[in-house]
Amino acid sequence: MQHDDHRRPGANFAPATLAAQGLGASTMPHRDIVPPIHMASTFERAEDGSLPGGRIYARDASPAYDPAEALLCELEGGAAAALFASGMAAASAVLLALKPGARIVAPHDMYWSLRNWLIGFSANWQIDLDFYADIDELAGLLQAPADLVWAETPANPTWDIIDIARAARLAHAAGARLVVDSTVPTPVFTRPLALGADIVMHSATKYLNGHSDVVAGVLVTAAADDFWSRIKTARAAGGAVLGPFEAWLLNRGLRTLFPRVRTAAASALHIAQHFEHHPAVLEVRYPGLPSHPGHAIACRQMIGGFGAMLSLRVRGGAAAAHEVAARVRIFRRATSLGSVESLIEHRAMVEGPGTRCPDDLLRLSVGIEDTEDLVADLEQALACCPAGAQPST
Ligand code: PLP
Repeated sequence: MQHDDHRRPGANFAPATLAAQGLGASTMPHRDIVPPIHMASTFERAEDGSLPGGRIYARDASPAYDPAEALLCELEGGAAAALFASGMAAASAVLLALKPGARIVAPHDMYWSLRNWLIGFSANWQIDLDFYADIDELAGLLQAPADLVWAETPANPTWDIIDIARAARLAHAAGARLVVDSTVPTPVFTRPLALGADIVMHSATKYLNGHSDVVAGVLVTAAADDFWSRIKTARAAGGAVLGPFEAWLLNRGLRTLFPRVRTAAASALHIAQHFEHHPAVLEVRYPGLPSHPGHAIACRQMIGGFGAMLSLRVRGGAAAAHEVAARVRIFRRATSLGSVESLIEHRAMVEGPGTRCPDDLLRLSVGIEDTEDLVADLEQALACCPAGAQPST
C-alpha cells in the first residue's frame, strides 16, 4: 500500500526550497521523488463499513490534490487549501458560501470575467454589490456592514495596487472577510494572509502551473472555519473539481514556480524601464516603476519583485495598438498570463463592450525568454506607431 509522506520541513527552509522539492515528500513503498498520479475516484470500505483510507469519494477529497494543496497552504501561510477546476470555480465557491442578502464590495478594475460574473450572480441571488475605485472609496463603502470584500492586486489590466493590510482592517471593522485574488503576484512576491486577508485565491492556470497546459484554481484560507466548510461543500456538491492529471501537472509546475516567476519579473522590470520614455509609448503601467500610482504600497507589500505583468499604452490609439500586436514575432497573440512564453493582447478588444480599459492599451505577460530578445521584438513592432502623436481618448 502506498503512503504519502508530506513532510513539513519547518519554517527555517525558504519557500523556494519547499516549492522545488514539493515539501520534500516521497511516496512509499518506492520513495518516489515525485508523487504518482492518483486516479482513483472511489475508496474501499473495511468489513465493518469504516474507511481505513480516510476517503470516501474523489469529488469530496481526492489524494491527487494533496501535494499541491499542502504546498500552497505552506507557501501562503494558511490553515487549509482547496484546488478547483479553474480560478473561476474557486471564486464561485466563495460566492456560493455567502448567505442570501449578503453584501459584497469589489474593485472596479479586476479580472473582467470575474467582475461580470459577480454582477450577474449578485443580481440573481439578491446580493448587494458595490464597487470601489481605490482604498478611500472602499473605506467610505465600508461605513456600512458588509460580508465580503474582494481585492485583486496588482489588478488587471492597469496593475493598480490595493493596500492589503488596510483593506483587511477596513473589511474586518465592517464585519466582512477579505478575499484577495493573488494570481498576478503569486506567493513568490506577496502573501496576503500574512497581511490580514482571510482567503487568498489564485487562477492556478497562470503562474502556479506556468506552462499554458492546465486550467485550475485554488483557495487558501487563514482559518478552517465555518465559512471554509461552506466553501468545501460548494466544491464537493457543486462538483467543480480538478482531474487527477491536471492536479499532477499543476504539482509539477509548482516545482519551478520561484525561478520562473523571478526570471519573468526581472525581465518585466527591465522592459518597463526600457519603454517608459519611448517615443511611441504614452504610458507604461507597471507597479515596479516609481511613476506607477501604487509604487509606494507595492514596495511595502510585494517582497522581492513586482510581478511579470505590465501594460503599454501606445501612441496612435486602437489602430496602432492592433498594429503593434500584429507585428510582434516573439510575443504570442493570446489571452491569459503567467506562462513561460510571453503573451500580448489588446485588452479592450478582449473585454468587449463596457470595458474600462483604454483602447490604446496592450497587456503583456512577460515570460522567461531572453530579455533583450523581448525588448528588440517590442522595439521593431512599435516602429509602426506615430511617435509624438496625441493620446487616444
Ligand atoms: N483571476 C485573474 C487575475 C485572472 O487573470 C483569471 C483568468 O484570466 C482568473 C482569475 C480566472 O481564472 P481561470 O481562467 O483559471 O478560471
